[in-house]
Amino acid sequence: MISVSEALDRLFALAPVLEPDLVPLREAGGRVLARSVRARRDQPPFAASAMDGYAVTEAAQGLRLRVIGEAAAGRRFAGRVGAGEAVRIFTGAPVPEGAKTVVIQEDVDRDGDTILLTDRLGPGPNIRPMGGDFTSGTELAAPRLLGPQEIALLAAMNVAEVPVTRRPRVALISTGDELVMPGEDPGPDQIIASNTFGLYVLLQQLGAEPRLLPIAHDTDAALRMVFSLVEDADLVVTIGGASVGDHDLVARVAGDLGMEQAFHTVAMRPGKPLMSGRIGEAMMLGLPGNPVSAMVCGHVFLAPVIRAMLGLGKAPAPRRQMALSRGIEANGPREHYMRARLTPQGIEVFDRQDSALLSVLGAADALVVRPPRDGARAAGEMVEFVPL
Ligand code: AMP
Ligand code: MG
Repeated sequence: MISVSEALDRLFALAPVLEPDLVPLREAGGRVLARSVRARRDQPPFAASAMDGYAVTEAAQGLRLRVIGEAAAGRRFAGRVGAGEAVRIFTGAPVPEGAKTVVIQEDVDRDGDTILLTDRLGPGPNIRPMGGDFTSGTELAAPRLLGPQEIALLAAMNVAEVPVTRRPRVALISTGDELVMPGEDPGPDQIIASNTFGLYVLLQQLGAEPRLLPIAHDTDAALRMVFSLVEDADLVVTIGGASVGDHDLVARVAGDLGMEQAFHTVAMRPGKPLMSGRIGEAMMLGLPGNPVSAMVCGHVFLAPVIRAMLGLGKAPAPRRQMALSRGIEANGPREHYMRARLTPQGIEVFDRQDSALLSVLGAADALVVRPPRDGARAAGEMVEFVPL
């Protein structure tokens, strides 16, 4: 039996980092920046007014100044401001030559072409210096996941095409005579394939490109047929049929198709033997069929593998810490990923932890990670968890 982190290391050894793609900025959200990029200009590209008001050479209570022109965003004042003069200015406009400060409009009384700086005069200078946000050549370092904020920054840097890691293509294969697709009419002994759909969405959220292949029945021929549909996938994920029973064909058929495989009996709950290897050009990962086991293994193994393929590094699922809202019993010899819920009073581990209960997993937003042989823990003690 090997630990979760040893199993992960073996999976990382099989996971390639994929090559970059150049995509338009609008399609770069949710992707991983593959190469560092540099700002192509200063921001702001000129000293800019931070407020609506008047650009002046100096500000002092009681000064009376003559308004000689106007500077708006996108339209600068061509001349120079001198002593005794002011230029009407708006937010984002270039500060005219000669101006040292912008007096906000609330702090002046205007009468025709004259302004009086009142006793409300606030602090200046209300000017954003040129390059104050970033300067030309400033780097946005790779790798990083591009969210809305990074996309806004890249846009301001005038980067219209972004080098991002290609999305990993992942083929998902369910196996089992008992399975039918959601929406179909199951026979009395059948159930609906569920975890494949959960894994599909997990993969989408991770930035992969999942494909759901047809359910493979428990015959050599059916499984071979589905494997023939894998095409150019970077990763083939099979679900179920992974233990060594009469109906567990995945290992045998994949072996016939040339897979160099390894079984890892991982010391974790929920979970079972995990299969990994290569089949042709693709990496293969065999997950347990039990719905909750498959989803937990999705978070603990599949997600880190996808992040590694995306170039985000070879690291386990990130963990956080929180105090327990109520006590839990001692753990056994395996690392246990317990379904739990975050509450204002702390993290609450559910009483029912059977690995077939999708309704409990559906109510969970965290997996509390119990180390092997962890002792009983009381309310208020800190525990580690993987957010879902
Ligand atoms: P297996 O590993 O094939 O023995 O499957 C273990 C358990 O998980 C059995 O109860 C299967 O019916 C169930 N199972 C396997 N694959 C799926 C699936 N895609 N969706 C839901 N349940 C499944
Ligand atoms: Mg099965």
